[in-house]
This record gives sequence, structure tokens and C-alpha cells, in this order.
Amino acid sequence: MYQLMKSVLIKSSALSLLGAGSAMAENLHYSDLMRRAFITSSSINPESEVAFRIASERQNQDIVSFCHKLGLSFKKNGWETDPCGRVKWQATMQSGDKNPLLFVTFGSGHETTLLLSGVHPDEQTPLPMGFRLARHLLEHPELIKADQQIVIAPLVNPDGFLRDKAQRTNGRGVDPNRNFFTLDWYEKSLATWQSARNKSLPHFPGHFPNSEIETIFQVRLIDEFQPDKILSIHAPLGFLDYDGPGDQKGGSLTVTETKARALAAAISKKSNNYRVVDYSFYPGSLGNFAGNERHIPTVTLELRTTDADRVDEYWEQFLPGMMQAISYPFKKEIEESRNTQKFYSHYDDFVLRSKDKS
Ligand SMILES: [Zn+2]
Repeated sequence: MYQLMKSVLIKSSALSLLGAGSAMAENLHYSDLMRRAFITSSSINPESEVAFRIASERQNQDIVSFCHKLGLSFKKNGWETDPCGRVKWQATMQSGDKNPLLFVTFGSGHETTLLLSGVHPDEQTPLPMGFRLARHLLEHPELIKADQQIVIAPLVNPDGFLRDKAQRTNGRGVDPNRNFFTLDWYEKSLATWQSARNKSLPHFPGHFPNSEIETIFQVRLIDEFQPDKILSIHAPLGFLDYDGPGDQKGGSLTVTETKARALAAAISKKSNNYRVVDYSFYPGSLGNFAGNERHIPTVTLELRTTDADRVDEYWEQFLPGMMQAISYPFKKEIEESRNTQKFYSHYDDFVLRSKDKS
């Protein structure tokens, strides 16, 4: 009897210890480890991407309330209070803070231009450009020719913009222009970031490539629309930078390379001969991912300042250049295998096929 009692006592105290111990461990360590290992740090994959989708019946409502919120922030900056206007925005994905990732298309031609702005929202001047261009094209549909299509994503990083103070990084502290899955990402991106750490700009590339929904959003736009050229607007470096075929290459250029460089020159010419600079690209950047690796001519327009008061001036100066980027006849002539690798668009087909096999 005594032996039995003793064993029950030991057992129950051991159990309670184990219980307390595991609860404590869970609170202090494991849940945090798990969160970091499986959510914060991991790349977004086709399964986890589902968490960032907006249900189709909610899309319109979400866009309307987001546009209202944007209007209030635009007003604070002294810009237009209705940036979205009557444009037929679409959004199938949302950011970590549940802001819709907006885009719109004009025209249905076979020559597609992708325009991105608001990637780094602390650079304020580029922010209204995408919205203004979309409203301008809505008012002047005749500007889009039959063989053209333009896709505009005016605010790639809404969470960075809607924080109390607009920031370069997204809501999770990652630079959406260093998080693309480029071939040199694993080898160089963290080292590049660390070597520049003393500089004040936060360029953190993420713990893994493609870990941020803003990156996936841009990849999906490239994936689905297969743009022939990309124009991305930033500030305040004050030049046009070209990434793509023939970038940073001396000597003889192929026909496509020559044509691609001529695109940057044409945009410059329509923008009061804005300076063209051959600036290097970074691990995980759009210029590297789309321009360097996929040979999609990618032009970055760096406005001169981030001063919110100069938006009207820049809009006047660069509208002709933006229109030139759209209308410049450039159908990329590169072999299909060098073209954008499909990342996610065909994932559903892939799942079906692998199920068929089992
Ligand atoms: Zn930037």
C-alpha cells in the first residue's frame, strides 16, 4: 500500500513538473522558435501564399476602404485627396497589415509595360506617380495604342506608407527591393546588407528570398503579364538607370541589347534629357531579378528629391517620359527559356498533375 501511494505521488508530482515545465518552455521558447522558423523567416510558398489572398467577394469593399484611407494620408502630404479616382483597381492579394496590393491594366495589346511605384514609401515623390498615371490614362484612353498594354502597381509597399512615419521597408522591416530570389541572393545579400549596416537606410533583404508578400506580388505581376519592359520609380538619386540585356557590358551589343539601351535613352530624351547612369544592381533587387537574370529591360527612374511638395513639378516633367516608356516599340526578342520562369501561376496545374501520378 505504501509502495503504491509512493508511486502515485511520484507520478503525479512528476506529471505536474512536466506540465509546468513544458508550459513554461512553450511560452518562453518553443512557440517563439516555431513562429520564427515557420512563419517569419520562411519564404512564402504556394500554400502559405493563400493567407495573403483576398476572397473575391471582399475585393471591391476592401479596395474602397483602402482608397479612403490612402486619401487621408495623401491629404496630409498636401496631395490629391482621392488618389484612386474612378480607376478600376484590382487586388487579389493583401499585405501583412491587410492592405490590398493594387494594380490596374489598360489596353489589351501584345506589348506590355509594367510600371511600379511606392516600393520604398519613405521616398515620397514617386508615390503619387502611379496613381496619377492611372487616372490620366482613364481620362485619355486614346493614349494606349491597339498593340499596347500597361500594368500599373502604384503602391507596392502600402504597409511602409501607412505607418506613422513612412518607411523604406515593409511592415516586417524587409526591403522589398532586396528580397527577390536572384541567383546571388544566398551568397551575397546578407553580406551586402551587413557591410552597409552603418549607413542609415534599412536595406534588410529578409531571412530568405521571397519571404515577403510585396516581393511575391511583383513576381506575380511579371509572371502573369510577361512584361516586355518595366519602369520602376524611386527617389532621390536623380537619374535613369537601366538594367537588362547589355547592362554593364562594354564592346559590341546584340540587336536586343542595343534596342533596350535605346529605350532608356528615349525615356531620357522625353524627360528633358534626364541623366542616364549605369548604376550597379544588388542581390535581390528588381533590376537584378527582372533585368539582369530575365533580360526584361528594366528602367529605374530616380526622381531628384523625396520632397512631397515637388510632386506636381515631377509629374509635369516625367509624364512624357512615362508615356514614352509605354509607347516605345519594344517586343522583347529573347528565347523563351530566358524569359520569366513561371513561379506560381501554374501551381494549381502542378498540384493536379502530381496528384494524378500518385
Ligand atoms: Zn528606392
